[in-house]
Amino acid sequence: MTRLAAVSVDLDSLPHYLRIQGLPESTLDERALSLVAEKAIPRLLELFANARMPATFFVIGSDVGLPGMKRALSDAHAAGVELASHTFSHDYEISRWPRADIDADLRRCEAALGELGVEVRGFRAPGYTLTPALLQAVAARGYEYDSSTFPATPYYLAKAGVMGALAALQRPSRAILDSPRVLLAPRTPYRPSLENPYSRGASDLIELPMSVAPITHVPFIGTFATAMPWPLVELTFRSLRRDAFFNFELHAIDVLDQTDGIPEVLVRQQRDLRVPVREKLDRLGRLFGWLGDDRERVTVLDAARRLRAML
Ligand SMILES: [Zn+2]
Repeated sequence: MTRLAAVSVDLDSLPHYLRIQGLPESTLDERALSLVAEKAIPRLLELFANARMPATFFVIGSDVGLPGMKRALSDAHAAGVELASHTFSHDYEISRWPRADIDADLRRCEAALGELGVEVRGFRAPGYTLTPALLQAVAARGYEYDSSTFPATPYYLAKAGVMGALAALQRPSRAILDSPRVLLAPRTPYRPSLENPYSRGASDLIELPMSVAPITHVPFIGTFATAMPWPLVELTFRSLRRDAFFNFELHAIDVLDQTDGIPEVLVRQQRDLRVPVREKLDRLGRLFGWLGDDRERVTVLDAARRLRAML
C-alpha cells in the first residue's frame, strides 16, 4: 500500500504558552493576541498552497473568539484544510476532569467550529495527555480518530525537568506530566484500548501517534525541523522512511519569530523564536517536498480513513 504523510498544526495562541511557563497573561497586548490569526495562519496557508500539501488544524474552541480568528479559520476551511478539535478550554488537566465536564468541553469546541460549517471528526489532547476518561469521551462522540499519543522519550524527560525547575522557582507550570506509560505506546497507528489508551485494543476510533524516530524516540515535530541542525533533521527524517504513516505535528508559533511582536519573556523561553521565520518556512517547504517524493500526502482524517481497514 502507498505510504502516507500528514501535516497538522496545533493553533495554540500565545496565552497558552504563558500558562505552560507559569507566566501572567497580562503581558499580551491586542497585537500579540492576534498573531496566530493575522500572521501564522496566512503564512501556513501560503506554504501549504505552494507545496500542494493538504493539512489539518487542531483548533482550540476558546481561541475562535480572538481577533481575526474566525476569518482566518474560514479561509483555511475554504482552502481545504481539515479543522479538528484541540478542546475548547485547552486546560492541561482536562484528562483528569469528571466525564460530564469533558463532554461539555468537547461539545463547546464542536459548537465553535460548527459556526464555521465544520463537523469535527478528530481530536488532539492539550499537552498530548490521554486518560481513559478523555479517550472514552472522544470515542463516544463518534470521532474517527485521535492523534495525541506522543511516545517521545527526550521530550518527556525535558518536560519533567522543566516542570521540576519551575516548581523549585515557585512558579509552577500549568502543564501536567503524562504517565510514563506513554513511552511504551506504539509509535505507529493503532486501535487503542479505551481502558488503556496507550495500549492496543479494539476501539472503533483509531489512534495516530505523532512521529518520533525509531529507537531514539526523538520527536520529529515542528521545533525539531525548524531549529535543529539541518543534517540531523535529514538523518532523522530518513530513519522514519519505512513507516507506513508520517504524522508531522507543528504549532502555529513555529511560523512566527521574535520580530512579529512576541513578548520578550516568551522569546527567552522558546529559543526557536529566534530563528528567522523565512528560514523556518524554507525548511518546512523543503520537508513537504520530501514528503511528496515517496508518499501520498493527505489530511489526518484521510489518513485515519485509509489506515482503518488495516488496523
Ligand atoms: Zn496545544
